[in-house]
Amino acid sequence: MKEITLGIIKPDAVEKKIIGKVISMIESTHLNFVEIKMVSLTKTTLEELYQEHTGKAFLPELIEFMASGPVLLLLLEGENAVNTLRSLCGDTNPDKALPGTIRRDCGEGLPKNAIHASDSQESAKREINLLFPEHQIV
Ligand code: ADP
Ligand code: MG
Repeated sequence: MKEITLGIIKPDAVEKKIIGKVISMIESTHLNFVEIKMVSLTKTTLEELYQEHTGKAFLPELIEFMASGPVLLLLLEGENAVNTLRSLCGDTNPDKALPGTIRRDCGEGLPKNAIHASDSQESAKREINLLFPEHQIV
């Protein structure tokens, strides 16, 4: 089924100047870019984005990191977009991710794992409505 998904190239990858490498890896799939946008996310927006992690020990460090520099938002579409992007990202922990995945090849550890990817079509809609309000999805 044709889906949309959200990717976020995280501040570690932006700082390392490997945006092009990450985008190139995504372009090796069948996914299409609908829109990309460079932004600095506020802590308020990040608390909303990561609402499912409220109360977890790693959340403050994650929000601090995600607010530490600009990120690149990626709005992607294609068949099975959510799982396609999640598979390409690999395991949350770059040390456990397989070679050839974005997190293994571009990440440094936790929370600096190079990329965020929506985990379901429901999450994708919620995240895209939050971060690309000009693309409201119902
Ligand atoms: P994913 O991004 O694979 O969906 P989670 O939703 O579990 O993973 O976590 C969100 C983000 O929080 C991760 O991508 C990572 O940047 C960070 N994170 C997860 N677990 C930890 C941890 N134990 N310590 C520090 N940061 C973490
Ligand atoms: Mg997640």
